[in-house]
Amino acid sequence: MKPTLKAIWHRCLLCLQATEQHICTLCLADCGFIHSHILRQNLLIHNLNDSEQYFVHDVIINAKFDELWVLDIYQYPLTVLIPKLKFYNQPHIATLLAQWFVLYRVARMDRLPEALIPVPIHWRRMWQRGYNQSHLLCAELSRRLYIPCLENNVKRKHHTRPQSELNLADRRTNIQDVFTVDTDSLASINHIAIVDDVVTTGTTINDLCRSIYQVAPHINITVWCMGLGVFEPSVNKQTTD
Ligand SMILES: [Zn+2]
Repeated sequence: MKPTLKAIWHRCLLCLQATEQHICTLCLADCGFIHSHILRQNLLIHNLNDSEQYFVHDVIINAKFDELWVLDIYQYPLTVLIPKLKFYNQPHIATLLAQWFVLYRVARMDRLPEALIPVPIHWRRMWQRGYNQSHLLCAELSRRLYIPCLENNVKRKHHTRPQSELNLADRRTNIQDVFTVDTDSLASINHIAIVDDVVTTGTTINDLCRSIYQVAPHINITVWCMGLGVFEPSVNKQTTD
């Protein structure tokens, strides 16, 4: 009897059915970001009068960077996948998200950055968790795109409370001048991308941008994030305050 090649079977990360991929074809068909025309672009150049609620999002209104690309709004399937990546040490989810981001977002970009920078976490949280999810994403994107990942050139100086434990007002005061940036590493680079898993208010990213501009004022900064959090966007504040 001839030996036959067997496919490597996994459980779908979303429905747990057997599949040859990380996500089965039925679940993949339910992923709205694949078909979203709006998300296939730099969200900062989109017309702010657009009826889509998230175009009056705090991240977009207060952006200190030049481009914003997101895989999806922070909704299903990211609400299932990202907590597993962030809190349950499932690095293969970074592989999947990076694969999607390259396929559905990077393929639409006119220009690519010269280097990638993960949003750093403090060494104490790194020690507690064992890894930085933004670094896992950044490393996967770096490997697929042949763009260097500058994981050691930006560091977090202070240990701050996790943003996810704070309300909006506290989030804004929790992060102040907490990053140090290695000047030499950015001197010859004109365009970087900051990589993060979820951006909710943009406070952390904006603070990181300010720290980078202090040592490299010439630089263009793009933000690549997997999920744009819909936590209290400005449009809601106007109607509920
Ligand atoms: Zn499935």
